[in-house]
Amino acid sequence: AGAGAHEGTAPVVRLREVAKRFRRADGTVANAIDGVTLDVMPGEFVVLLGPSGCGKTTLLRTIAGLERADEGEIDIHGATVFSHERRIELPPEKRNLSMIFQSYALWPHLTVFDNVAYPLRSRRQRYSKAEIAEKVNRVLELVGVGELGRQFPGQMSGGQQQRVALARALVDGGDLVLFDEPLSNVDAKVRETLRRELLEMQRTLGFAAVYVTHDQHEAMELAHRVAVMGAGRVRQLGPPTEVYSAPTSRYVANFIGTTNEIPATVQALEGETVVLDTPAGQARGIRASDGLTVGDRVVACFRPEYGIVDERREDGNVWDGIVERVLFLGATSETVVRLGGTDQRVRVTTLGEPAHRDGDDITLFVPAARLRVLAEGSTGVSA
Ligand code: ATP
Repeated sequence: AGAGAHEGTAPVVRLREVAKRFRRADGTVANAIDGVTLDVMPGEFVVLLGPSGCGKTTLLRTIAGLERADEGEIDIHGATVFSHERRIELPPEKRNLSMIFQSYALWPHLTVFDNVAYPLRSRRQRYSKAEIAEKVNRVLELVGVGELGRQFPGQMSGGQQQRVALARALVDGGDLVLFDEPLSNVDAKVRETLRRELLEMQRTLGFAAVYVTHDQHEAMELAHRVAVMGAGRVRQLGPPTEVYSAPTSRYVANFIGTTNEIPATVQALEGETVVLDTPAGQARGIRASDGLTVGDRVVACFRPEYGIVDERREDGNVWDGIVERVLFLGATSETVVRLGGTDQRVRVTTLGEPAHRDGDDITLFVPAARLRVLAEGSTGVSA
């Protein structure tokens, strides 16, 4: 999935070095978007994920033309809709896309039919009554609410409202939909259902989507590719499995899921692998990342579910440790291990009930493929 499946086709959205600054009330300047380059391919679901203030909403609004970028270029369906250099700026209604806002924002006083017909009626190029009826009914069928045309949004379930909002976004033949946290005001249980349905519909209907959220579970579930943002930049872009399993910075490793971090120094480089000096002893066989040199201060990271207690194998690293605390959480247990002779604590997650008790002497095995060496930097967005 993801971009690989689209080689040779033109992107639906193409961003080149897009930047957007805001002047704050106190006169200082915020670099809300700080040079973003990104392609969205036909049928692709790209999620912009990041903490509050990282610039994801501004980036979405800039694509839509609701904010004017200060730098860079934006192409949509192969046509340039914004170029700082060439002084091109198309208004939102000429950008050939639809935007879906928080809570789907259907008009309560209009029927489903009229809600969906709205974008057609507000166009300058008029459609006949018959054309409008045909287009609206077809798209309502497409999203599976063909029978709801005469109802009002207030009488419908969340799932039906979501379908109607999608119908409105797709009715004018557009195949690019921008979503600004549509599910953020919905309670957790319903959100899960709506997410599944949205996923199903996007994969079936095949429109391209750019979707803003600060919820990593939502991002992992919906995205073909996730753009993890920090301080106005895309810090990492890739399929959910990749940003989770192979984060390229401490920022991404800590923003998505939880990670154990063991401070270390690069002791030697052995071909493709690296030897680390950690407070709890040597760690060997870890795949080296680019640009490492002997003496670099780094952190060795691994996800809690990849630590294995009381196993010793050659294809990874073994540390001695003491079980400090065991927490039974139901489906899983969490074991806090203090690495031998140090103050370094790591967490290990296992399925089901814990096999150990507080105070046990254990060994902790982490497969080399699951250990990552990341630049020390900082975990903050300004890193
Ligand atoms: P959230 O999830 O809280 O909406 P976000 O990641 O979407 O966060 P943005 O809303 O895009 O972030 O904001 C990015 C930065 O730009 C922030 O520092 C914000 O304060 C600033 N900013 C956004 N809009 C404006 C504005 N109209 N005027 C001044 N500063 C702004």
